[in-house]
Amino acid sequence: MNYVDEVLERVIKENLGEPEFHQAVKEVLETIRPVVEKNEVQYRRDAMLERIVNPERQIKFRVSWVDDKGNVQVNTGYRVQFNSAIGPYKGGIRLHPSVNLGVIKFLGFEQIFKNSLTGLPIGGGKGGSDFDPKGKSDREVMAFCQSFMTELCRHIGADTDVPAGDIGTGAREIGYMFGQYKRIKNVFEGVLTGKGIPYGGSLVRTEATGYGLLYIVEEMLKCHGQDIAGKTVIVSGAGNVAIYAIEKATQLGAKVVTCSDSNGWVYDPDGIDLAALKQIKEVDRQRLTEYKKYRPNSEYHEGKGVWSIKADIALPCATQNELNINDAKMLVENGVYAVAEGANMPTTADATEFLQQKGVLFLPGKAANAGGVATSALEMSQNSERLSWSFEEVDQKLKGIMVNIYHNLDNTSKLYGLEGNYVAGANIAGFEKVAKAMTAQGIV
Ligand code: NDP
Repeated sequence: MNYVDEVLERVIKENLGEPEFHQAVKEVLETIRPVVEKNEVQYRRDAMLERIVNPERQIKFRVSWVDDKGNVQVNTGYRVQFNSAIGPYKGGIRLHPSVNLGVIKFLGFEQIFKNSLTGLPIGGGKGGSDFDPKGKSDREVMAFCQSFMTELCRHIGADTDVPAGDIGTGAREIGYMFGQYKRIKNVFEGVLTGKGIPYGGSLVRTEATGYGLLYIVEEMLKCHGQDIAGKTVIVSGAGNVAIYAIEKATQLGAKVVTCSDSNGWVYDPDGIDLAALKQIKEVDRQRLTEYKKYRPNSEYHEGKGVWSIKADIALPCATQNELNINDAKMLVENGVYAVAEGANMPTTADATEFLQQKGVLFLPGKAANAGGVATSALEMSQNSERLSWSFEEVDQKLKGIMVNIYHNLDNTSKLYGLEGNYVAGANIAGFEKVAKAMTAQGIV
C-alpha cells in the first residue's frame, strides 16, 4: 500500500467517530500525493504524515457555570494545539451545540495549511465548546466565558497559542474571555485576537474574513479576464463572514441577493439591505424572519435554499458541509461559474469534485477565508509593537496577502501540472512550507 493510503487508513482507525476530521485529512492527503511521492523516502523515514495528522496536544475540559435561574450548567471545552512548526498555535474558538472533538480537530487541521498560506508566522490550532450562546443573557454568556477561560488560560499565551473568534464567538465573547485571562494572569498581552478596538483590537479584523474573500475572488476573476462589478452573487450565512462578504461584494459593484441562518433564508431580488441585516444580526441578535419588515419585496423561506437561485458567483459562508452534490448540480445548471468558500469546508468532497469537473472556478476555504486569520496575525504584530495601524494600512496589507495567496495557489497548481485546481494548489503550497519547517526542527 502506498504511504498516503496507509496513513489515511490509520487516521480512520485511530480517530473513530470523527467523520469531519477524516474528511479534512482525506482531502489534504489525496491532493498532496505528488509531493509525497517525490519525497517518499525522507517522509517515511521521518514519519512526516503520521506526525502532521496527529495534534501536538489536545485539551478537553469541564466548563461549569451558573445560569440565570441559579442552576449549574456543565459544558465541555476543547483546545487542539495541532502544529507549531511555523509559529504559535493560532485558530478560533467555536461555540455551537454541534461542537465535539472531531469537529475541532478538523478545523485545527485545516488551520495548519491556511495559516501557512498567509505567509505569516502562525501555527495551527482550534478550540471551542458545545455551549450555545443563542438565547442566553449577557450575564450567562459572561459566566460561561469566564469559566471557559479559567481553565484555558493555563494553556495559552501571546507566544504560545493565540485563540480568536469563530461561529458563536464574536466581540462580546472575546471581551469576556480577555478580561478573565488578564485578571488571572495579571498580564496585558495579545493572547486573543478579535479584541475590541479600545483594548488592543485591530481595525479591519471584524471585516477581514469577508473582505479577504472578495479580494481573492476579485483577483481570480481578473486573472480570468472577468470583473466582479455587475455580477449576481448568492451568499449563505448571516454571521460575521457573510455580512462583510456582502458588504465588500456590494462595494465592488456586485449584487448579492441571498443570505441565510440556521432556520431559513432570504431572497432579495433588489440586493440585500446591509443596514437592515446588520441591525437584525449584530444589534438585535434576531432571526432572519425580521428581514421582511425592512424589505417587503423580499422573500423569506424556512429551511435551506440559497443555492437554488440563479447567479454568477456562490459564496458559502455558514458552516461545514452546507453545499452538497445536489446543490452543486443546481449551481452548474443555473450558470454559476465561481464558488469561493467563506466558511470552513462548506462544500462536500463530491460536490467539490463535481464543480471542478464542470470547470467552475473553485477556491477552497483554507485560501479564500484566510483573510481572517491573516488580520489576526496583524493584530498580534500591533500588540507586540504596542502600536495601532490605520484602517487603510491594515486593509492594504490584507488585500496584498489575499492577492499573494491567489498567485501562490495558481503557481503551485501549474508547477505540479494541475492548472486551475486551486484545492491542490492550496494544500500543496500550505503543506510544503510546514513540512520543510518540521524537517528542519528534527523529530519532535
Ligand atoms: P457566525 O456565528 O458569526 O455566523 C455563522 C452563520 O452561519 C450564522 O448565520 C449561523 O446561523 C449560520 N450557521 C451556523 N451553523 C449552521 C448550521 N449548522 N446550519 C445552518 N446555518 C448555520 O460565524 P462566522 O461567520 O464567524 O463563521 C462562519 C464560517 O466561517 C465558519 O465555518 C467559520 O469556521 C468560518 N470562518 C470564520 C472566520 C472568522 O473570522 N469569523 C475566519 C475563517 C473562517 P444561526 O445564527 O442561525 O446559527
